[in-house]
Amino acid sequence: MLGVVMCGCQVRAQQGAAAREQMVESQLKERGVKHPGVLDAMRRVPRHRFVPDALDGRAYDDTPLPIGEGQTISQPYIVAYMTEALEPKATDRVLEIGTGSGYQAAILAELVKEVYTIELVPVLADGARTVLKELGYANIRTRQGDGYRGWPEAAPFDKIIVTAAPDDVPPVLVDQLAVNGILVVPVGRGDQMMTILRKTPAGVVRRETIPVRFVPMIRKG
Ligand code: SAH
Repeated sequence: MLGVVMCGCQVRAQQGAAAREQMVESQLKERGVKHPGVLDAMRRVPRHRFVPDALDGRAYDDTPLPIGEGQTISQPYIVAYMTEALEPKATDRVLEIGTGSGYQAAILAELVKEVYTIELVPVLADGARTVLKELGYANIRTRQGDGYRGWPEAAPFDKIIVTAAPDDVPPVLVDQLAVNGILVVPVGRGDQMMTILRKTPAGVVRRETIPVRFVPMIRKG
């Protein structure tokens, strides 16, 4: 009988898919993530492509990991939590501040129409742009610069996600949010709270949900 011969890359791809399924079951569903699209995106996106080669084997662990320049890729659960909190829709245009590895942008790109993502540190911005291109994401625009000012030319956005922690919600980002839009941002120095803002026609409704720990948002100028 003929056996099926797989190349190394196919073996690794299968291991990646199995590791992602395990991650979805034990880290995400177990903690209450329910959105089927979010769970599917987390099953599909090869997180190991977004971590340094030396940490390849830990890509699906229940933890944030260093990505260089003193920055981190968030724990899978936090990525799923924030994505679910954004209530992603296929028609959404989303702004992300803090591209980092590009992983969160890729998860969003699986779910929404367009992702605009800004990274302050040039080497991280370049790395993310490269891997997102290699993976074929055509609906992600990347930019290197200070995200504190948002992306005015492309505003308003249906959703905004900030993946570094400012001391308080940047007012410019609230301005760049569409009516009925949602902004998800970790707020505070040291102890931080995940903060979800909804811009209703009657005004902004702010809610704090879970304690979190993100790298601080860096202010330029
Ligand atoms: N979303 C990322 C994780 C981000 S870590 C991922 O999926 O991998 C936070 C990132 O925010 C870091 O890369 C940091 O350099 C970036 N950052 C910090 N302050 C910033 C600012 N003012 N504008 C844009 N990016 C910023």
